[in-house]
Amino acid sequence: MSVAPASLERALRDRFGAEVVSDGVPASYLTDATEARGLSGRADALALPRNGEEVAEVVAWCYEQGVSITPRGGGTGFAGGAVPQGGVVVGLERVRRIRSLEPLLWRMEAEAGVTTADVRRVARENGLLFPPDPGAAEQSQIGGNVATNAGGPHAFKYGVTGDWVTGVEVVVAPGELITVGGPIRKDVAGYDLGSLIVGSEGTLGIVTSVWLRLAPAPEAVAPVVSLHGGTAPGCDALARIVGSGLPVAALDYLDGETLRRSAAAFPVTLDEAGFMILTEVDGSPEEVARLRQAVIEVLEEDATSVWAPQAATEIAALWRWRDGVSLAVQAERGGKVSEDIVVPFERLAEAIDETLAIGARHDLAACSWGHAGDGNLHSTFLIDPNDDDERARAERAADELFELAARLGGSISGEHGLGLVKGGRLAHQWAPGALSLHAAVKSAFDPKGLFNPGKKQA
Ligand SMILES: Cc1cc2nc3c(=O)[nH]c(=O)nc-3n(C[C@H](O)[C@H](O)[C@H](O)COP(=O)(O)OP(=O)(O)OC[C@H]3O[C@@H](n4cnc5c(N)ncnc54)[C@H](O)[C@@H]3O)c2cc1C
Repeated sequence: MSVAPASLERALRDRFGAEVVSDGVPASYLTDATEARGLSGRADALALPRNGEEVAEVVAWCYEQGVSITPRGGGTGFAGGAVPQGGVVVGLERVRRIRSLEPLLWRMEAEAGVTTADVRRVARENGLLFPPDPGAAEQSQIGGNVATNAGGPHAFKYGVTGDWVTGVEVVVAPGELITVGGPIRKDVAGYDLGSLIVGSEGTLGIVTSVWLRLAPAPEAVAPVVSLHGGTAPGCDALARIVGSGLPVAALDYLDGETLRRSAAAFPVTLDEAGFMILTEVDGSPEEVARLRQAVIEVLEEDATSVWAPQAATEIAALWRWRDGVSLAVQAERGGKVSEDIVVPFERLAEAIDETLAIGARHDLAACSWGHAGDGNLHSTFLIDPNDDDERARAERAADELFELAARLGGSISGEHGLGLVKGGRLAHQWAPGALSLHAAVKSAFDPKGLFNPGKKQA
């Protein structure tokens, strides 16, 4: 039996009740952060299950009926992964219990719908650190972070979300709740199914709960911000930091074009500059004092100015500003097409310059910023989302970025995933044999192709 789209919501409601299936699908469930590039989807129904078992029941119903399923976290993704292409949206926001927290064992089990900020806050209140720090933490969910393997500025020292996941509870086809890993630190018994789920963008199953490793929270942190004359001297300074072996926790950059659009909200008045480095050290107060001084000395070699705030309020203001850079850039024209390409660290300057050149070729304002230490750029073209021609030019420019990433020996995505917007682009960097394996993994997990169709397609 299969259900016609028109009666799908009614059939789902008959089965699960108004408690779980909403009346209509609010527009906010049809978009994610790609709304700024004009993307929006459609859905026949919205289910908001309350726990993992209910998620499994909804999936089982959909799988039996041949209805597609779009898992949705906080809707902050930059790849259109949560933008539905029909069928049922399964929102995880009500599956949000912290199932366990064991500070002395440095671990937590959190359900998928707990926000990233709450995971970090609860850890912090117990003297611990959950290091992954993607920029929309108040809205994004830990399930979404796992599904995208999200990074953030501090990934340079601490790694990305997957590095902190020791187990996942996940609903797989045809509606079974399974657990891979758990509150254990090692597990090589089977193929690493947990790692396949991490970063799978809702195309292999729905994550309902995750076991997380935590670290002791550093006693002190000290950011250092330096300004440089342009991209070349800025990247030389980055290379000196990396080469020095100083264990900095974050190593971000902003190019001059990004600074021009975001400097007004910086916590202190900034001199005009062609490049900014934002780095941070952490540890015991003594260690931080020593590292901070060493980092300043390395940067000062050619920096035009250095700002190294020590007051907690100034440090918080600095990171709040950094979290807002993406929106500040977007505000200029109302929209942007931003791609999270990765290149080997030593090719960063080339990729930053090329981003501007590609923008110029397509008559688009361009800029980039990102996690320099990881070679991860947010190469951005500003657009008016209502201007179809501009949007089309930006998509062509994005294609050139993907070619650039592949040519420089990098990747078309370091953080946001393929989602909808990079569908079909994996061939830029993978050989046919690898692409076939990619497709085979998908069909092994999801033989009917119902989990998040149209996403993460090679
Ligand atoms: C201002 C801003 C700053 C950002 N900064 C960063 C950054 O520094 N680093 C970074 O990596 N990202 C960043 N992002 C992107 C985004 O926040 C991350 O990709 C985040 O992990 C998405 O989480 P979400 O809960 O919002 O997921 P959604 O956007 O809802 O979904 C993302 C993908 O995951 C799937 N999904 C969601 N929940 C589940 C689940 N429970 N089970 C299975 N699949 C699921 C969806 O189907 C979709 O494919 C930023 C976004 C914004 C708006």
